[in-house]
Amino acid sequence: MFNSIAQSLSELIQQAEANELSYLQFADALVEQELLQRNQKRIKHNQQRATFPMLKRLEEFDFRIQTTITKKEVAALLDFTFIDQRQNLLFIGPPGVGKTHLSIAIGLKAIEAGYKVLFKNAMDRIETLDLAEVQGELKKKISALLKFDCLIIDELGFLPVQKQGMYNFFQLINHCYEFRSIILTTNKDFTCWNEFFFDENVAVPVVDRLIHHSKIFMLGGESYRLRQKTKL
Ligand code: ADP
Ligand code: MG
Repeated sequence: MFNSIAQSLSELIQQAEANELSYLQFADALVEQELLQRNQKRIKHNQQRATFPMLKRLEEFDFRIQTTITKKEVAALLDFTFIDQRQNLLFIGPPGVGKTHLSIAIGLKAIEAGYKVLFKNAMDRIETLDLAEVQGELKKKISALLKFDCLIIDELGFLPVQKQGMYNFFQLINHCYEFRSIILTTNKDFTCWNEFFFDENVAVPVVDRLIHHSKIFMLGGESYRLRQKTKL
């Protein structure tokens, strides 16, 4: 039960003796050690559950290159009131400007702060919803997703979505509305969402729910990928 204490007990005793800790201070140190280890374990577990395709850190993001969002704006998100208040973050912009990088980096920080996050590419997300729907388990699937505090849906809009897919996606967005937080990245301005969803009757309510309580970041600038290529 107290694995972490058991593992490092002799070391902790030595430290206590060296520092002449009282019994109370020693007990305090033991509890602190146990909590620290449990917390680290939980963070590691939640990082694995998040299924990030790769780890991207905020510390690696160069705000001198991407100037359409500031370090200050991103830092302001890291108290995670946006998650507590079930708000969404929308990163909109062309390919290569750092949308995925930022969404993963913010997701990682959220996990470190104790939140549960799940990352999925938008097409994969819609596919898994479609599959669940075919199996008569859409509700169950959505309930499972709602166990996370924040869902990252990456790259919506690259490929058009079929009718059933957009209906299933709408169900997810609707269940998350004012209940869970979404970080969405997309290359499409909302005015183009009709083409992407084919059907205005679905596009409008989806956009409506996504943007109602949201912070929108329009990213621009040159593609970082292209920049790296042309540098070679
Ligand atoms: P997008 O999702 O907008 O298409 P990505 O976030 O995938 O772009 O960025 C493409 C690549 O460039 C990634 O490897 C990412 O880490 C890197 N990148 C993009 N912008 C920056 C930046 N400002 N600083 C550091 N790396 C960046
Ligand atoms: Mg991307």
